[in-house]
Amino acid sequence: MTSPARTRIAPSPTGDPHVGTAYVAVFNRALARKTGGQFLLRIEDTDRERSSPASEAMILSTLRWLELDWDEGPDCGGPHGPYRQSERLEIYREHARRLVDGGQAYPCFCTPERLAELRARQKAEGLDHVGYDGCCRELGRAAAAEKIRAGAPHVIRLRVPDAGETVFRDDLRGEFTFQNRLLDDQVLVKSDGYPTYHLANVVDDHLMGVTHVIRAEEWLSSVPKHVLLYRALGYPMPRLLHLPLLRNPDRSKISKRKNPVSIAWYRARGY
Ligand code: GLU
Repeated sequence: MTSPARTRIAPSPTGDPHVGTAYVAVFNRALARKTGGQFLLRIEDTDRERSSPASEAMILSTLRWLELDWDEGPDCGGPHGPYRQSERLEIYREHARRLVDGGQAYPCFCTPERLAELRARQKAEGLDHVGYDGCCRELGRAAAAEKIRAGAPHVIRLRVPDAGETVFRDDLRGEFTFQNRLLDDQVLVKSDGYPTYHLANVVDDHLMGVTHVIRAEEWLSSVPKHVLLYRALGYPMPRLLHLPLLRNPDRSKISKRKNPVSIAWYRARGY
């Protein structure tokens, strides 16, 4: 028997509770229960525009209706709380500071206009890598600090190595290799001071003691960035399992337009 697994689901409260969340929860909860571990529910509400308390309440109530109960979460607490990311901002800021101090991340002052222009130019040139060009990488600490003091809007970006490869293993799918030169200098902290999914997800999975990250396959392309982040922070990697997406019989992805995807829809119809 494997040692007790700590697993989680980490829904973003940005709309109706999706059946995919329940599907992923089933596997996470099963592994935790089978191994005598814990199953956590974490609310990833770092998108300030799109997150809402009503959506969060609906996610919790529909998962409970499905009897997918959790051991730690925003409603019941636990030893690694808070379990709502908007209540953990200082933790992410501290991590971002650490990364900037260590040179693994840097403040970027590029305006949305410059970034849009850059993207348009890269597209027109037909480059295989469309992404940030590293303009603010070499700004220098003193110059950057001066700009921040003067109140210049900025984000924090991860300094992705220009060369080499990032390799990781998925327990369901085997080994993946990504070329670092094709990875973007990912934004870790947005200009509103909120972390992005990548930073908050890695920090929380570590601090919450998550041993197995079981989620949908659409997150696979984020993993190389996460691997670099775990490494930069000196945190061990959890095990990774990316599940196949829910699909229609014709193999197309289930989607809001074609399928009822809200758990609330099924509850309302008496399933
Ligand atoms: N917040 C992400 C979501 O909405 C979590 C993805 C993950 O499990 O890492 O699905």
